[in-house]
Amino acid sequence: MKSSAFHCEPVDAGRPPSARPLRLLIVSGCLFLAACIGSTAPALGQSARPGTAPKGANRGPADNFTGVVWVKPLVPPGSRTDCIVSEVTFEAKGRTVWHKHPNGQILVVTQGTGYYQEKGKPIRIIRQGESVDIAPQVVHWHGAGPNGRLTHIAIIPNVSRGGAVNWMQPVTDQEYGQAK
Ligand code: MN
Repeated sequence: MKSSAFHCEPVDAGRPPSARPLRLLIVSGCLFLAACIGSTAPALGQSARPGTAPKGANRGPADNFTGVVWVKPLVPPGSRTDCIVSEVTFEAKGRTVWHKHPNGQILVVTQGTGYYQEKGKPIRIIRQGESVDIAPQVVHWHGAGPNGRLTHIAIIPNVSRGGAVNWMQPVTDQEYGQAK
């Protein structure tokens, strides 16, 4: 069996002309299939209308989040990398409680605009394409702005050494309202 027929390779001009239409058909089929997959598969953070769960996500527990927050595990605990990776979508005004990570955390904003704040510092506005590198044991929170969703990827390293997160008290409406 010629396995090359099942790969989307360019038409080989050296082949007999009679083979070309079939190969063109296969190549077109591959491209069509790729286009179909590309248009129907939900992109990260774009998998549902605001207010509804992104595919594969569950509501974040009320002890750890204020408002409506969706958490989709991407790399669950137990990975050989010793990292946990999640896609977190905050509906408007949704946010984490104050917390810290024993080995820090990296956030990568994939959609929307939101807030990040370290204890004692002003609220920082974070936007799609930006990242936040959070040092170990720094008390902070993150979440959506008041007008729309925020989605970020959250990466927590070295979880077997000291754990992933220590949750604290909620971010009050007064604290949340300090954003300018
Ligand atoms: Mn955090």
